[in-house]
Amino acid sequence: MDFLKRTWAEIDLDHLAFNVKQIQKCLPKDTRMMGVVKADAYGHGDRYIAKEMENLGLQNFGVSNLEEALSLRESGVESDILILGVTPASAVQKLSDYHITQTVYSLEYAQKLSDAAVRTGVRVDCHIKLDTGMGRIGFHAGDDYIATEQIISAYRLPNLDFTGIFSHFSSSDDISNEGIAYTKKQKEHFDQTVAALEQKGLYFKVKHLQNSAGVLNYRSCHYDLARVGIILYGLPLDTLPDCDIPLKPVMSIRSAVSMIKTVQKGDCISYSRRFTADKEMRLATVPIGYADGYLRAFADKGRMIVRGQYAKIVGSICMDQLMLDVTDIPGVQAGDVVTVVGSEGSCQVTLGELAGIAGTIHYELACLVSRRVPRIYQKGGKTVGIVDYIVEE
Ligand SMILES: *Cc1c(COP(=O)(O)O)cnc(C)c1O
Repeated sequence: MDFLKRTWAEIDLDHLAFNVKQIQKCLPKDTRMMGVVKADAYGHGDRYIAKEMENLGLQNFGVSNLEEALSLRESGVESDILILGVTPASAVQKLSDYHITQTVYSLEYAQKLSDAAVRTGVRVDCHIKLDTGMGRIGFHAGDDYIATEQIISAYRLPNLDFTGIFSHFSSSDDISNEGIAYTKKQKEHFDQTVAALEQKGLYFKVKHLQNSAGVLNYRSCHYDLARVGIILYGLPLDTLPDCDIPLKPVMSIRSAVSMIKTVQKGDCISYSRRFTADKEMRLATVPIGYADGYLRAFADKGRMIVRGQYAKIVGSICMDQLMLDVTDIPGVQAGDVVTVVGSEGSCQVTLGELAGIAGTIHYELACLVSRRVPRIYQKGGKTVGIVDYIVEE
């Protein structure tokens, strides 16, 4: 196996294992972790990531849609898979054949799913989703009103097996007084609704509420599962500057210098002459651009690491290439490895830093690492797998 050394992402499976251990320490002994691997495992590549998580003992996975669930099954994942979003009712056969659990978030949807299951002659496992304050999908569960009757009607529909119930925090990363009050209210709505349903004889094997921030900030929560995403990938919550569990970033992004040149005072660099040299400079061209997920918004403030030193981006970022100022870094040559995200010596560039420059969050940047960037999986210092989305092996 080989890959073209243009731009690539190194995925450190040892760091993933480290993060899993650290997070498990925050959870009650009988709370299992659901590995949230939607969006290709936040850009890390769901096949290798989910298999590795399974090796590390995780037995539950969360994805956004049916295609992602089927991709996990294809790569040999045997654990429980919950689709957190909608699946067309016409796909009930696939849900049933591949033992995939579907989220049911309204009576209308439950009816469609049940009708299709009856027509097809299959049964589908489902988890009820409550909307306790996220305002996205779910049966309403608030102070004034709980959609209890609708949930009971859904529960009684034929060919659906309700094995779980869950809800989602909107603000568990917000540790202001208002944020904490809101999250506590959501937890109350969840607990009260589950209690009300149990009183009516509706029992659920699996209850779950927390996401990553919910795990770190609300450790007294005690449910059967915790749905953990971002921190598994070693991306800390920026609202928790002194997060007391250490995490190691799983993804690094690297590239290699394609060309070195000297430019003179007055020379213009990149589209729209965005940068003009004010002295003689040495520039390195690097083959990464916004089509790889390296946003134009990183220009001016963005930096990379070359030969153990920071180098600033000069000029606009193009679709496939950009230029770095390496005037003060001696000896840079074509072929030198460039650390785009990750560490080298004492220097480090994080997705969090880049997110700050672009006015977004690291979640978004991780998902935007495009399919043009092959993922190289490493364990014990060795390459154990490569996913090249463009040229299949
Ligand atoms: C994405 C998602 C999660 C994981 O969120 P993190 O903040 O990455 O831990 C959990 N639950 C649901 C319903 C989600 O959509």
